[in-house]
Amino acid sequence: MAHFPPSFLDEVLARTDIVELIGRHVELKKSGSNYMGLCPFHHEKTPSFSVSPDKQLFYCFGCGKGGGAFQFLMEHDGYSFPEAVEYLAGKAGLELPQQQKADNGETARMQAGHQLLARVAALYARVLHSEQGKRAMAYLAERGLPREVIRRYGLGFAPGVHGFLERQLGTDSRARSLLEQVGLVVPGRHGRTERFRDRLMFPIRDRRGNIVGFGGRLLGQGEPKYLNSAESPWFHKSRLLYGFSEHRDEIRRRRMLIVVEGYMDVLALAAHGLPVALAPLGTAIGEHQLRMIFRLHDAPVFCFDGDRAGRQAAWRALERMLPLLTAELSPRFLYLPDGEDPDSIVRSEGAQGLESRLQQAQTALQFWLKGLRLLAGSSPEGRARMARKADAMLAALTDDYLRQVWRQEVEKLTGVNLAMARRPAAGKPRAAGRTEALSELQERFLAGLMQEPRRFRRLPEVARHFFVDYNGVAKVYMRAFSIVEAAEDQNVDVAGQLLHEFPQQTEIARWVNQAPVPEMEFEYLCLAMEANYIRMKQRSMRGRLSLRESQALQMRLQHIERELRRLGEKIQETGELEYDEEGQGKHSHS
Ligand SMILES: [Zn+2]
Repeated sequence: MAHFPPSFLDEVLARTDIVELIGRHVELKKSGSNYMGLCPFHHEKTPSFSVSPDKQLFYCFGCGKGGGAFQFLMEHDGYSFPEAVEYLAGKAGLELPQQQKADNGETARMQAGHQLLARVAALYARVLHSEQGKRAMAYLAERGLPREVIRRYGLGFAPGVHGFLERQLGTDSRARSLLEQVGLVVPGRHGRTERFRDRLMFPIRDRRGNIVGFGGRLLGQGEPKYLNSAESPWFHKSRLLYGFSEHRDEIRRRRMLIVVEGYMDVLALAAHGLPVALAPLGTAIGEHQLRMIFRLHDAPVFCFDGDRAGRQAAWRALERMLPLLTAELSPRFLYLPDGEDPDSIVRSEGAQGLESRLQQAQTALQFWLKGLRLLAGSSPEGRARMARKADAMLAALTDDYLRQVWRQEVEKLTGVNLAMARRPAAGKPRAAGRTEALSELQERFLAGLMQEPRRFRRLPEVARHFFVDYNGVAKVYMRAFSIVEAAEDQNVDVAGQLLHEFPQQTEIARWVNQAPVPEMEFEYLCLAMEANYIRMKQRSMRGRLSLRESQALQMRLQHIERELRRLGEKIQETGELEYDEEGQGKHSHS
């Protein structure tokens, strides 16, 4: 970890004007001795974000984010601390202390990659505007993209020959190795090949505006039509959105964000005066990208093609965003007519045409209900299927209020009482006051533990904080830990002892008696519990977590989500995961 002398840091800060730095992203108005603006870190309609020129600090009275110039770059633009120092030192014309230059090998490597990628983008752009790029230019003209937009977004053309980049950028071993590392040249049995050939090139930037990779559209025949840079330390597809750094400030300023499916859609909208679109990089939109979107704007419109693929993509997007939804967010969904995309709409109807369609976009709740209605069809079986799906999706909502409202709506729609349907074996109406049952996830997690007490010993430390607070269950859960700790025997009868101590907690018997929880499922459940815990902690501690803590949590969450996907697929293959009511009804003796 780089360590800068405090005197050097002071010098950098002394030469930095935080008002100017922040003012490039946030519209600031003088108010007394401070400046005020709309907070770039949370959504608000009236300014509570203040910047003090005297203290050189920013602070948001709404979300509690605050700090100095380094922190702003770290929070807002994703710099690491050394990168933020280096950036501001560079701007101020200060040389880095000798020590740091040596320390920052990793930073230097990343920088060299960024510089190389920028040179490659410039090269591709030059080719596009030359004789060689004529065919690509003709394609762009046919798609109605003005030259001004082509230049502004740095489009280029990769010629259809091998060895182009190495001829242009040097053949020494260092340049060759870097071209490989950033994924532009692939060494193979038949020599070194270039990843992009005969393709129209879209440079992709990270949120700092560095070019980190490319999307390439094939102009001739062949597959795949679109190809992206390979994953590399520079290019993480699931963490990037096309148009993000170009459109971020405009999206905040206009309070308008349109999520589209393709690069050309983003550019077509920009060409028609709507530089407020973002697109994932050719894959389904993921949770990290959704977080980026919601941080920019609380009411993005997700715009999908009207065909079957578009409908599926929309439904997947909804499923992915459920854990993130809160009452403060109002994402909306728009289907275009079959055969149309945003590009074709703005070309035939202009920006106004698209904007009036955007007005008619559905709320997430409307969209969800409509999708469920389609799923239900008219048969009773269809309705049951739909109710089960609805229940599973409700469980993914982490905002309790939202979940309650959505549940009421779907029950109105179907006439099915979801909470009742879930526990037919109980057969009794719920006691008053028990409005929220344990979620299916919590239920199976606790069952898995009670059935195999040795599993307690494998739980991560954080498991003590898992949220199981329902009708006294938290107390039982905590007591279980101390029973296991005190016992010699790995397989101490935890459930028996708990039942003895808490005779009124009938859940304990239910857990032991329900369908056995297999190993793989239990692994899945633990991770899912931890993921929920992290999300809850992030929400409830918003603004009070240190940057390091919240980054650590975020990284752990990403790891968990990868593991969950992997396990989820495996479990589906083996058909082990059964959360439906039949399984419980059959095995439950309570
Ligand atoms: Zn704020």
